[in-house]
Amino acid sequence: MRHIFINSYQRVKNMDESKTSQRKTRERTITEKIREDKPYEKNRMSEKILQEAEKIADEARNSLGKYCIEECHAYCCRTGYLVLTEEELKKVLQGKDYKSETKKLKQGKYSLYIGGKDKPCPSLNREFKCECYKDRPQGCREFPLFFKGNEIILSNRCPAVREGKLYPYLARLHALGYKINRPSDDILETIYTSNIEF
Ligand code: SF4
Ligand code: SF4
Repeated sequence: MRHIFINSYQRVKNMDESKTSQRKTRERTITEKIREDKPYEKNRMSEKILQEAEKIADEARNSLGKYCIEECHAYCCRTGYLVLTEEELKKVLQGKDYKSETKKLKQGKYSLYIGGKDKPCPSLNREFKCECYKDRPQGCREFPLFFKGNEIILSNRCPAVREGKLYPYLARLHALGYKINRPSDDILETIYTSNIEF
């Protein structure tokens, strides 16, 4: 009888151990899966957030179109500096003479000064429109809102920024986790002065 009891006890014990071992294996598999999935999920999320943020930023820039031409009269195309690649410089110059306004910067970039009297950006026409709009330089595409990691840098030179016209878009970007920064120094001038090749 005792023998039978021991055998039954052993059988139940073996079954319990087997179930525990199966459960542990299952738990380990799930944990490993979560570990594997997590970075994938995280990357997917940040990629999704980045895409959404870029979409909002484009909407913000596009919302200024009419204001830029009719009210601001393309202030950013008439004053300040453009930081350009050699290819962008060629496109923007449109064969015009801006030698004394052009400086070579580090890393193969150029600075074009567009603050001179009667010397706005060579691509700006009399209707305050850009003659190379479809192929305009990267800096012009991004102005007045730039991405820097999880920060949005706004150019204080832009009257639309100063008047808070971008607020609804900035609120959406902030809700996505972006910090909004509006430094008082002009970004392009900072780049210009810190990158000049002597
Ligand atoms: S300074 Fe601002 S509002 Fe004016 S044209 Fe440039 S982006 Fe538009
Ligand atoms: S290239 Fe076009 S958008 Fe850029 S500053 Fe000149 S006129 Fe303005």
